[in-house]
Amino acid sequence: MRWRLGQRKEEKMPKKFDILIKRAQLRNQSGKLFQIGIADGKIKAIEDRIDGTAAAEIDAQGNLVTESFVNPHLHLCKVYTLQMLDEEALRNYHGAEMGKAMTAIELAARVKEKYDEAWIIQNVRRAVAQAALFGGTHLRAFADVDTKARLEGVKALIRAREEFKDIVDIQVVAFAQDGIVREPGAVELMRQAMALGADVVGGIPWIEYTEADVAQHVREIFNIAVEYGKDVSMLVDDAGDPGLRSLEVMAVEAIRRGWQGRALAHHARAMALYPKPYFQKVAALMKKAGMGVVSDPHTGPLHARVKELLEEGVLVCLGQDDISDAYYPYGRNNMLEVAFLASHLLWMTTSAEMETLYDMITVRAAQAMGLKDYGLRVGAPAHLVVLDVPNVLEALRSHAAPAHVISHGKLVDLHSLESLASDK
Ligand SMILES: [Zn+2]
Repeated sequence: MRWRLGQRKEEKMPKKFDILIKRAQLRNQSGKLFQIGIADGKIKAIEDRIDGTAAAEIDAQGNLVTESFVNPHLHLCKVYTLQMLDEEALRNYHGAEMGKAMTAIELAARVKEKYDEAWIIQNVRRAVAQAALFGGTHLRAFADVDTKARLEGVKALIRAREEFKDIVDIQVVAFAQDGIVREPGAVELMRQAMALGADVVGGIPWIEYTEADVAQHVREIFNIAVEYGKDVSMLVDDAGDPGLRSLEVMAVEAIRRGWQGRALAHHARAMALYPKPYFQKVAALMKKAGMGVVSDPHTGPLHARVKELLEEGVLVCLGQDDISDAYYPYGRNNMLEVAFLASHLLWMTTSAEMETLYDMITVRAAQAMGLKDYGLRVGAPAHLVVLDVPNVLEALRSHAAPAHVISHGKLVDLHSLESLASDK
């Protein structure tokens, strides 16, 4: 009994936190403000009033505090390469109802003849610093692996992963952008990229010439994934052809290999043109495979059927996709901006839909990336943003940078990242 009393007494002692956030508005808790105590990298308490002291105190002033932003799709090796190219690839990707998407990829590949880790890393630093300034703490980043790019992009991204450790967590995807079957030597380079330390195996099966080659591409990617015990991310059916079937092939392969929950699809733009019964079949297969899809409706004229997928209970989230490269001229690694654009392109404008969009750049994106225990709750790792606005509507409207960003329980020094993020 005495022991119990003693313990209770200790619980009432003021606690010591690394960070204490005061007057925080949480989502769906309007009219009530909270305090959040953070210590040892984790959220330790969320209460009306916390009896404790902290090394750093933040007054949220009644503004919104949420999970930080997660971007599960960015071609990070290509950022800011637009000025190195003419606009032919861009015209082909966005024009002709996406019928020339394959030509666009072939045109865009020219930049890779100049690939060198030395200049890629500078662009990468700028884009990752921007992610942090806009409250992004987790990023799945693609690096092209083929005979032109060689391993230059992968090396730059692995270097950035180390440099930004504990500020922005980068999952490096070794990505066979120019194909596997049609690009001799790509499989060997992919294995070398995994051996160098890439985190995810990335494919693009729809780009192959025949259906048999598509299936082989998918098999090869899963072979490497199983060999290295890594997750899979594949860009599927990224053109305006309703006959494309690589999403289905990928889902079936994930089930056959026992890779449920470890395979993530990206784009799936041809889905917009699928007949309804075929869409239903693919949605059912995706659920069976535990396979989500990352949609980037702002980077192409077609997009996955996000609303219908949500109705079917498929995991859907949003990605930045590109920043000033051959495929898309804009982008700031600002996931609120991505959600703002998606709100228009998907016509998701009710308050319930805005909340869903917000999930698609936070918790759902985290789930897609396989991040464990991501959320604003006691015991979870403290990856948070303190915004300048009180609710999700205003967050989307302004899509402004947060006042504070917390990654791994530490305040990110935003000031020190500003010059890195600017255009030199
Ligand atoms: Zn993409």
